[in-house]
Amino acid sequence: MFSRQAGRSSQPASGSGSTGWQAALASSPVAAKMLGMNRLIDSHAHLDGPRFEQDLDAALERAGAAGVDTVIAIGVDLPSSLRARDLAYAHPGVWASAGVHPHDAAGFDDDDWPALSALWADPRVRAVGETGLDYYYDRSPRPRQQELFRRHLEVAGEVERPVVIHVRDAFDDAFAALEAVGVPAGGVVHCFAGGPAECERALALGLHISISGMVTMGFADPIRAAVPLVPDDRILVETDSPFLAPKPHRGQRNEPAYVVHTARRVAELRGVSYETLCGQAVANTGRLFGLATPARPS
Ligand SMILES: [Zn+2]
Ligand SMILES: [Zn+2]
Repeated sequence: MFSRQAGRSSQPASGSGSTGWQAALASSPVAAKMLGMNRLIDSHAHLDGPRFEQDLDAALERAGAAGVDTVIAIGVDLPSSLRARDLAYAHPGVWASAGVHPHDAAGFDDDDWPALSALWADPRVRAVGETGLDYYYDRSPRPRQQELFRRHLEVAGEVERPVVIHVRDAFDDAFAALEAVGVPAGGVVHCFAGGPAECERALALGLHISISGMVTMGFADPIRAAVPLVPDDRILVETDSPFLAPKPHRGQRNEPAYVVHTARRVAELRGVSYETLCGQAVANTGRLFGLATPARPS
């Protein structure tokens, strides 16, 4: 099941039904540990689209069974950000992020900005994004991508929320904007697709690095070279579901449970145990997005 939530998993709400609580206990982090399972967070997934319409509940159950008890659902425009927010209310293990993806920059109506702003004030919406620059696909004019990226960076400082940053073939312009505006509430370069130089530059800005299933793929030598450079307190893992399924699921629809394969590869590359990597990724994701940490068992 997937009905628990960081920060509440050991503390049932008063008056909650015993059935719900027993179920929550059976899948609590403590119980997971007793069963030899490590908790993990998928820091970036697109759960609101048609590819999860049929089986989102089952996909979240599979995630929970794999130890992935928390997922950040990412919006790419106003409608999908609203759906991500709704999913975060419908599923206690899901939190949301709201923003406009560079692919969607061209289609974004500036009149919708106040509605996005309202989302950033919502307690279940933990971040600004995804936003950024994508010069690989160039689906929106670059000046429009740059304009919206800067507005997201500025508002993130105002609302004191971290930024979820997408960068593809646009690191120089992205770093220029980041260096000019700053990232006072922090942020993450999601689905990191650079090499050691881009990694070092992002780290110097105080950013976190989130590694996707690309790290398991043949072409990803630069990403693999960067993974060991990320400090223990800046590394995150994600699926970017429904895209980019890691080996051994490559070519299938990706889903949050598959983040375990990415985490195993990242642990190998960093020369740490899977358990250690999971602990770091959970702590870092929780701290960055301000997710409550589970109460310690007394
Ligand atoms: Zn992205
Ligand atoms: Zn994304």
